[in-house]
Amino acid sequence: MRIIVDEKKCTGCGICKEECPKGAKIWDVNKKAMATNLRYCHLCTFCASKCPEEAILIVRDAEDETKKQDTEEDI
Ligand code: SF4
Ligand code: SF4
Repeated sequence: MRIIVDEKKCTGCGICKEECPKGAKIWDVNKKAMATNLRYCHLCTFCASKCPEEAILIVRDAEDETKKQDTEEDI
């Protein structure tokens, strides 16, 4: 999975970090927010739903997993 923050929309307000149950471990908010440590993320989607700018996109990457398997079989 990936968490994409739209830098054009993000104001650096820090709400994503505050609302995330693992905020201190996952989020790095300086001028813009970045989800830096996704192994702690359990896909609750609070960050995306609470962001006032709708700047956060959570991508589950199910298709990418399938592609990876295809590639492995080709080798
Ligand atoms: S809540 Fe949204 S606007 Fe605020 S820092 Fe996080 S991503 Fe940026
Ligand atoms: S989906 Fe939940 S656990 Fe993952 S970064 Fe967002 S608020 Fe945190």
